[in-house]
Amino acid sequence: MKTQLIKDILVSAPDGREVTVYGWVRTKRETKNLVFIQVNDGSCFASIQVTLDRDRGITEETEAQLKRISTGASIEATGLLIPSPASGQAVEIQGLAITVLGEAPVETYPLQKKNHSLEFLRDIAHLRPRTNTFGAVARMRSQMAYAIHVFFQERGFNYVHTPIITASDCEGAGEMFQVTTLDLEQLAKAPTTKVDFSRDFFGKPANLTVSGQLEAETYATAVSRVYTFGPTFRAENSNTTRHLAEFWMIEPEVAFYDIYDNMDLAEEFIKFLIRWALEKCPQDMQFFNDRIQPGLIETLTHVLNSDFIRISYTEAMVELEKNAVKFEFKPYWGCDLQSEHERYLTETVYKKPVIVTGYPKEIKAFYMKLNEDGKTVRAMDMLVPGLGEIIGGSEREENLETLEGRITELGLNPEDYWWYLDLRRYGTVPHSGFGLGFERLLLYVTGMGNIRDVIPFPRAPKLAEF
Ligand code: ATP
Ligand code: MN
Repeated sequence: MKTQLIKDILVSAPDGREVTVYGWVRTKRETKNLVFIQVNDGSCFASIQVTLDRDRGITEETEAQLKRISTGASIEATGLLIPSPASGQAVEIQGLAITVLGEAPVETYPLQKKNHSLEFLRDIAHLRPRTNTFGAVARMRSQMAYAIHVFFQERGFNYVHTPIITASDCEGAGEMFQVTTLDLEQLAKAPTTKVDFSRDFFGKPANLTVSGQLEAETYATAVSRVYTFGPTFRAENSNTTRHLAEFWMIEPEVAFYDIYDNMDLAEEFIKFLIRWALEKCPQDMQFFNDRIQPGLIETLTHVLNSDFIRISYTEAMVELEKNAVKFEFKPYWGCDLQSEHERYLTETVYKKPVIVTGYPKEIKAFYMKLNEDGKTVRAMDMLVPGLGEIIGGSEREENLETLEGRITELGLNPEDYWWYLDLRRYGTVPHSGFGLGFERLLLYVTGMGNIRDVIPFPRAPKLAEF
């Protein structure tokens, strides 16, 4: 590589050799003879200090450059790598020459030294990665994505790319974004009220995917273990701190796995990711612990060392109904778990992650395996403190007749599912899978409070800037 990253320089021996760093100035501080510049290149949380000493002589050219430096300026700095006399840093650079690559005028640069609110930073999402918080989030996001691939690749899973555009109106998981090349202006003026989709790009209505699951099942029932990891779109008109219109989802799908194997996999997966965060990202995690969510590291460590609670929906209901007064939405057997119910179970009752199984079939998707009672399905949701649902999954119905029955019961047309039903017609096997929202995972691991702050450019109702 042409340049050296600050993270590598910071951990190398301060042997007095000459080094050059590139980055953005966090702060510049001056005393009569000394100039201290903190340079950050985002490669790690810490900045490196470049110290210039007028007693040792600074060239006129560098003096001129120093005048142009303020917070946010980009620079190239060359000097000798020496042990730092200052506390909190092992090494620093005894500066010899500095070149400003780009100024950041104090009058207009929005990121001055003071702490900015997360709300303010959301409006300047193109500059927020230069802050401590968003730099840390960016590195965590990348590390967690890497960890996810490692987890599955080490366990014999194949990464499958499921389509972004789908013409099968399958999941029913949420509102969908329509994809069309029809001229809407023209349609608005047309005398007819019916849209002729045969003239549309795909010859029929098409949408952005809400889940890659159904397509993933086709590969799981061929190469046994698969996972998808890609963008997912839901036009949910909910302005919550846990929902985005565009988010990333990880969906493993495993042949020959039942609901219990599925729960084991989900628990092992979450623990693997937490351990990765704590072991591979200690500096960033320390920052989240100190500045974003006090006690985060201890909480996550506790989660690593405990067994997740597993209860049935019916048991959960008993617990919730006992405390019905605490909820705005009164719980009853048959209702979908509201966020307040989920959080009560995981935060107040059990105080750790909880996996709930056996939901009433009416509130879950058609493909979930029907239990012997004919009333509940083998669904599993994982709930975690501070967040509620982080994972939703199930064992899939592998019996052709039962599945067709469920589809018809829900007023759907089995013919639309011809290829999905073929998986049950030919060589059907028990199989299971789940979906983990990547941004929900990031909220959990970093302790950040709003899902819009753990994705670079959030998409939500009336929000598509950048
Ligand atoms: P919720 O009840 O929280 O809306 P869901 O039941 O709609 O979730 P699923 O359809 O089971 O969720 O999707 C699987 C996972 O995807 C969820 O557990 C969650 O982690 C994530 N997820 C779902 N919807 C969103 C969204 N709008 N933004 C971000 N992540 C989401
Ligand atoms: Mn939802």
